[in-house]
Formats: sequence, structure tokens, C-alpha cells
Amino acid sequence: MVRVIMLSPPGAGKGTHSRWLTLQTGAAHISSGDLLRAEVVRGSDLGRQVAAYTERGDLVPDELMFRILAPAVVAAARHTGGYVLDGFPRTMPQALRAAQFGADLALTSNAVIYLTAPEEELVSRLLDRARREDRADDTLSVIQHRLAVFAKETVPLVDYYRGRGILLELSTDRREAEVQADLLDWLQARRLMLPTAGESRPDCAEPAGANAAEDL
Ligand code: AMP
Repeated sequence: MVRVIMLSPPGAGKGTHSRWLTLQTGAAHISSGDLLRAEVVRGSDLGRQVAAYTERGDLVPDELMFRILAPAVVAAARHTGGYVLDGFPRTMPQALRAAQFGADLALTSNAVIYLTAPEEELVSRLLDRARREDRADDTLSVIQHRLAVFAKETVPLVDYYRGRGILLELSTDRREAEVQADLLDWLQARRLMLPTAGESRPDCAEPAGANAAEDL
């Protein structure tokens, strides 16, 4: 079963590709951003603390993030045997803690997918999403701050996972189906997914940009 980390700047498509991978594999989809937004909607004390960070585009402190996320990972992995972690880890301390936690529970990640796209494309997709969805963190200044936070806090994880030999870097500045076909090939080559009988690669005839900004 796949135990995947999706590493991606805001706007590169981690939500879209995480959901797709979940459907392909049966692994649980766990989105740190969704868990945090649900806590904010609940209006709890914890939710109010969380909102103060997310609205500014700052990362929620590692300890708080781990407290919210860990039970979801354990429950989901027990239920399905795998996971697609969408948005976690995002800092080196989170990555190291996740590695320790994974080792203790035999839930270590076996693949990290690093999605990339040019910065102007990321900004344009996020502004497009802002027109359709009501997210407090999709204004231009907060988007630029989130990209800067990604560069400072999350990019160092790329070398860390590359060093562990489990990283696949994929450009999402192309049709969604092409990205997914490459992802499938890579997972199958590493025997993390079995080729299914009569399987066809995702339909690469889909028009360029289709759904690209629908949900990231
Ligand atoms: P996302 O939906 O992944 O774009 O996340 C939305 C916001 O939630 C981010 O800008 C952060 O404020 C917060 N967040 C999500 N994941 C994490 C994480 N792993 N660590 C800290 N903050 C996070």
C-alpha cells in the first residue's frame, strides 16, 4: 500500500493529485489544510488559535499541527493500510518527527511527490481559485507570503527526501493527465502500485489546463 507525502507549493495541484491518487490506491487522503479549516469552522479555542496563523499565511506551530494530524494518520492508516499526506510535513522538525513516528508505528512513508510549477502560474491559479472559493488566505499579499514561507521552510525537505531515495519531482505545468500518467508509471516501477489488467494510462487527450485550477 502507498504511504505518500505530497510536497508542493500552494497552487501546484497537491489537492487535485492527492484526491486522484487516493481513488487509484484506496489509501486514505489526509489534508492538513482541510483538518485545520475544519477546526476553524468548529469555532473551538484551538480553531481560533489556528485561524490566527492560517489567515496570515503563516504555518501553524509544529506541535499544534502534529497534535491535530497524528490521530488522523493513525486512524486512517489502520483503516486503509496507507495514506496520501496532503500538506504535511512542511518543516524539517515536522519531517523528522513524522519519520520517528512512522518508524515507531511501522507507517514510514515510501514515496514523496514534489509538484512544481513556475511562480507566476502558481499565483494565477490561486487568484483564480479565490474568485471561486472563499478562502481567507487566497489574497495576493497572503499568496506571496505563503510562497515565501514555502521557499524558506518547506524547500529544504526536498533534499532531505531526495537523500532518502524516495522523491519524485513532477512539473504540473502541463495537462493533468500527463502528470498522473508519469506518477502512475513511477509508482508501478517502484512496485508501490500494481499494474491492473487492461489498464490504460490516463487520457492524455484532455485539453491543456483542464481542471488545473479547480482544486489545488
Ligand atoms: P493548504 O490547504 O495545504 O494550502 O494549507 C492552508 C494553510 O494551513 C497553510 O497556509 C498553513 O497556514 C496551514 N498548514 C497546512 N499544513 C500545515 C503544516 N503541515 N504545518 C503548518 N501549517 C500548515
